[in-house]
Amino acid sequence: MKKIVLATDLGGTNLRMAAVSSSGEILSRVKYKTPRSENAQEIVESMAKAAKECMATVEDCEVIAIAAAVPGTINFEKGLIFKAPNLPELDRFEMVKALEEKLQIKAILENDANAAAIGESWLGASKNVNNSIMVTLGTGVGGGIIIEGKILRGIDGTAAEIGHINVEPEGHPCGCGSFGCVEQYSSATAIVRIARELIEREENEFSKISEKEDLTSADIYEIANEGDDIAKEVFRRQGYYLGLMLAGLINTLNPETIVIGGGASAGWDLFIDSLKEQVKIRSYCEPANRAKIEKARLGDDAGILGVAKLGFEKV
Ligand SMILES: [Zn+2]
Repeated sequence: MKKIVLATDLGGTNLRMAAVSSSGEILSRVKYKTPRSENAQEIVESMAKAAKECMATVEDCEVIAIAAAVPGTINFEKGLIFKAPNLPELDRFEMVKALEEKLQIKAILENDANAAAIGESWLGASKNVNNSIMVTLGTGVGGGIIIEGKILRGIDGTAAEIGHINVEPEGHPCGCGSFGCVEQYSSATAIVRIARELIEREENEFSKISEKEDLTSADIYEIANEGDDIAKEVFRRQGYYLGLMLAGLINTLNPETIVIGGGASAGWDLFIDSLKEQVKIRSYCEPANRAKIEKARLGDDAGILGVAKLGFEKV
């Protein structure tokens, strides 16, 4: 009988689950809206429902584990979520215990950016690479670091929060309590904020940015591609700050590959030059020349495939 892992990517908006084989084949998948309430158990109930639906369409399979990627800091060994800023009902929640009680199978928990790093190193842009850094550019900036083939967790499991590396000493306040974190300059949220700031400062009512009310980072990318200078400047800054962060990480970790993914990496062609320029100026020559900077290849499935891989490893 084919062994499978039920792999879940729990986001602030959607809960996605897939039945994944040991070779990384996705046999079935479902997508729900993430339930919003003050009760964490509702998310567990929703995952149980998704698991049942996922299994209904696959035949002759044995489920060996359920593995969940969650948007927050976690303790891997204890299966505990420390803090999930976008799903606060999960703060201090023992997710593994709750899933094992509900589903009566082995459960595994991982941070979403770590899961994406594992996924890309299993089947994506950093395949067969032992030292890599994954950068996810979404609502925030997430990171996963793989050293000598192992995910870097730190003593409590909270390592690799690279989005909160400081790149502006007196910069914009950040949700983490600090200010000037790279998340405040290179995430999708930051792209929109910086575009608005530039428009205000330069009083440029001719920019198309000032015409739109519900501005998104995708809108700004489109406007930049039409040649708008302010929109192009927003992406130049996104790359500049990412370059500052990566220069430090390259000097510290000497990675072979850096993978950049997430929705706000769509502006790649507009930010990559300023990113590479900063890496070249600020890091040592040998590690900077060594580090390949690659686009993520697995898209939304990186996290699902990453936790599935962990599931097969841990059971
Ligand atoms: Zn921060």
